[in-house]
Amino acid sequence: MKMEKLITNELGSGDNFSLKIIKLQGICEDNSKKVYIQANVHGAEVQGNAVIYHLIEALRNNLSLIQGEIVLVPQANPLGSNQKVGTWTYGRFNPITGDNWNRMYKDVLKNEEALNTLAKEHKDDATTSKKLKKLLKEKIQAMKQSLSSYGPNENSIHFLNLQELASDADIVLDLHTGPIATNYLYVPAFLEEESKHLGFNHMLIIPNEFGTAMDEATFMPWVHLQKALKEHEIDYKIPFSSYTVELEGEELIDLERAKIEASKICQYLVYKKVLTKNPFSTPTVGDQYYCHLKDYKTYYAPRGGLVNYTKKVGELVKKDTTLFEILNFNDLDNLVTPYKAYKDCLVINHNTSSNIRDGMELYQVMENYWKID
Ligand SMILES: [Zn+2]
Repeated sequence: MKMEKLITNELGSGDNFSLKIIKLQGICEDNSKKVYIQANVHGAEVQGNAVIYHLIEALRNNLSLIQGEIVLVPQANPLGSNQKVGTWTYGRFNPITGDNWNRMYKDVLKNEEALNTLAKEHKDDATTSKKLKKLLKEKIQAMKQSLSSYGPNENSIHFLNLQELASDADIVLDLHTGPIATNYLYVPAFLEEESKHLGFNHMLIIPNEFGTAMDEATFMPWVHLQKALKEHEIDYKIPFSSYTVELEGEELIDLERAKIEASKICQYLVYKKVLTKNPFSTPTVGDQYYCHLKDYKTYYAPRGGLVNYTKKVGELVKKDTTLFEILNFNDLDNLVTPYKAYKDCLVINHNTSSNIRDGMELYQVMENYWKID
């Protein structure tokens, strides 16, 4: 095991922030896989670091279990992590530009002519896949250079650095959390079948399209390659996996729970033949629910006031039962107003605050969900 440091920022005081890149190298052969796992790009979403801690502790003296390499980047956005307001972490947005930290990535191979060349030269899938990784790295480096010609833009270069670290990976896990949330995964449509092996309980299926987040930025090059090959009448199964992994709520770590989450990731890596065995005890999975992103609905506050979140995350809620109540002192005859669920739903997230003005996000729920066996 070794650690490399990459300077990410120089502050006004002249001090530096840096990334810690931890590499666990196992038995590397020609076809062995590389796994890239990062955590905490949103500054308040700290639980992924606890999972990385358990992965380090379980694997550092068991490197022979690894068929390939696992690269771990905890606290992947030091600038985001270090913005505090009182005791809270102001971690979701760049405080200077207002941009969401997980919407900074680039669709590097969009409209890339070289993909057509790869398709024309295609002999076998494994060789083409290797060529894609090489092309991706080159294009990221070129993009970094061109975007830095008038100095580095803080919203571009750091995130291209993360994309470059993941550019030769076969599996990418971007560890996040919700506000107050249950566990859930963002699953690209082409990985719907595979995703159950991660052992999470709630899966949101997203289209194979770019929406500026890390999972999409890493799987889109493969989607573009598949499309280029299709134009040459070659059927190509994407050999790459990428997920955003949501590890319950923000601001707090829970080392006990992180051990179970690390075990689920290791169980998946056994399925993917990256680990020969799970160094943790086998996790219990429980019910697994899926829904499409179009059925992932947000309830906004119909009025200001103090919200009582009647239904908890992970709960199944029936249509027309009370989802939340709002306490407001303007009308002494109606101090508390109940609000009902519009449809049957499964609660995934709710806001961390009861003090809400109208129009703020209260809940995120799955509708038209289904359970797998
Ligand atoms: Zn996040």
